[in-house]
Amino acid sequence: MQVCVYCASSGHIHPDYFEATSRMAHYLVESDIQVVFGGGSSGLMGQLADSVLAAGGQIRGIMPQFMNEVEWGHKGVSDFIYTQTMHERKAKFLEGTDALIALPGGPGTFEELFEAITLKKLAQFTKPIVILNTRGYFDTFNILMQKAVEERFMPNELNHLFTIVDTPEEVVPAIKSAHVWNKGLRDAGSLR
Ligand code: AMP
Repeated sequence: MQVCVYCASSGHIHPDYFEATSRMAHYLVESDIQVVFGGGSSGLMGQLADSVLAAGGQIRGIMPQFMNEVEWGHKGVSDFIYTQTMHERKAKFLEGTDALIALPGGPGTFEELFEAITLKKLAQFTKPIVILNTRGYFDTFNILMQKAVEERFMPNELNHLFTIVDTPEEVVPAIKSAHVWNKGLRDAGSLR
């Protein structure tokens, strides 16, 4: 099994975020899950790679060439795919992945997560999306999405699109118990 993890490049964040990332990485390795990530060495990306490698797991970075040139790549990761553009990179994140995990992050993480949710709403991506809500970071995201449902910009089937969990221990079980996406849900989920 392979999962792609979206997460922060910033390292100027509360230690709880690092600790949760590290714990989740250990659970992924324990569950024999291979990890794909943005390839960065800073912030939660760096923590994720350090923790997966320390636990003896497998991790692949996918990074646009320009980031490699400015040496943003994690030096301990040997399995890398370099892309021409950020768009190509985002497409590669989704290729062949069995699930997506979003950890706390900034605009880059939000953008990646929103694209995946959008594609899932349209049934162009059908795998589980699990959001780890460390320190309640995604509470306001959840409120925003619920508002979109209340105002009928989003279908009620929102809950089928992604799962929000509070602890790293819940991530793998949430992947395994996520709703299986199908065309019926896409049709039920479209508001016309
Ligand atoms: P953010 O959530 O804004 O920190 O962005 C995380 C995403 O931004 C990653 O997937 C990368 O696309 C990109 N990114 C931003 N800064 C860096 C960096 N220093 N090293 C690697 N990737 C970065």
